[in-house]
Amino acid sequence: MTPLARQFVRRIARHGPMSIADYMAECLLHPEHGYYATRDPFGRRGDFTTAPEISQMFGELLGLALARTWLDQGRPAPFTLAELGPGRGTLMADMLRATRAVPGFREAARVVLVEASQALRQVQRQTLKDETVSWMDTAVELPEAPLFLVANEFFDALPIRQFVRAANGWCERQVALEDERLVLKLSPPAPLAALAHRLADTRPGDIVETCQPALPIIAELARRIARHGGAALIVDYGGWRSLGDTWQALRAHRPEDPLANPGEADLTAHVDFEPLARAARAEGAACSALVPQGVLLERLGITERARRLAAGLSGAGLEAHVAAHRRLTHPQEMGTLFKALAITPGVAPPPPGFSA
Ligand code: SAH
Repeated sequence: MTPLARQFVRRIARHGPMSIADYMAECLLHPEHGYYATRDPFGRRGDFTTAPEISQMFGELLGLALARTWLDQGRPAPFTLAELGPGRGTLMADMLRATRAVPGFREAARVVLVEASQALRQVQRQTLKDETVSWMDTAVELPEAPLFLVANEFFDALPIRQFVRAANGWCERQVALEDERLVLKLSPPAPLAALAHRLADTRPGDIVETCQPALPIIAELARRIARHGGAALIVDYGGWRSLGDTWQALRAHRPEDPLANPGEADLTAHVDFEPLARAARAEGAACSALVPQGVLLERLGITERARRLAAGLSGAGLEAHVAAHRRLTHPQEMGTLFKALAITPGVAPPPPGFSA
């Protein structure tokens, strides 16, 4: 049993079942035993690989898309260039390198990383050691200024709750105990205001997920963007309108039972973009249509950039580069499962790649 598993058993024995959200929050961010708090989980030796770790092209193209949007909005200065959940800092490093060619952009940018894990802040500090960067704990602290922001695989790490549709209400799937073991059990059915609108498009037995902590974060971003200008590019796996159980644990690149090794596996769920878009619009911002990652990267010119980089490569390096291009864009790899949403001020044109 992991140290967190022992803590959960004691807590549930004393206080009763806990929500998946509480379980997930502790597993990921517990200051002593939490997954992100204790390790650098990225890359071949880690538990998973993300787009910026697969190829520099991802960060370069997103960086240039943000810079183009900054030019289109009349080069506001100063502005905040921010990232939510920057992992190793690779995406920000690639964005900063690629945008060096855009006159005035780097000089006007105040770079902010929103990161909860002290361990990962150390890694980010190392990756970005030649840059002036500040760290914040939450999006609430972002300056009241034009905001140009990226978030890749950030929202999938936020705690979700799961509900099973009953006749006229919802049963919550909760973490409970059976013979000293952690198991999922259903709470008695009850009405739920947040899911009242989903009674129309679900049937008894269907599972719906909610991610409450995402909503105030989106509201903070959208309010700044609507008021001061800017754009947020949100990339993650998921879709429009959650349906079904997407909660998963990944350890050493393999899926496992999310209750098996609390604190030692990465826990995520697919992002439901619909409530995010609704929260952004409620603050007066505009949202793009959801664009598959592969389509977005093609529109931003990944194939041309890949050819350019390939010219300087040979042998195993070239093979890895070709594989990385495929992995980011191909429908059977990340191209279709991952989606992107752009949040902009109502008056501004959408960022490049987001208009059909
Ligand atoms: N964007 C990176 C890393 C994704 S992993 C990449 O694409 O490689 C998720 C990141 O979000 C990690 O850096 C993790 O520490 C951070 N994180 C998770 N929950 C957070 C929270 N509630 N507040 C701030 N950062 C969080």
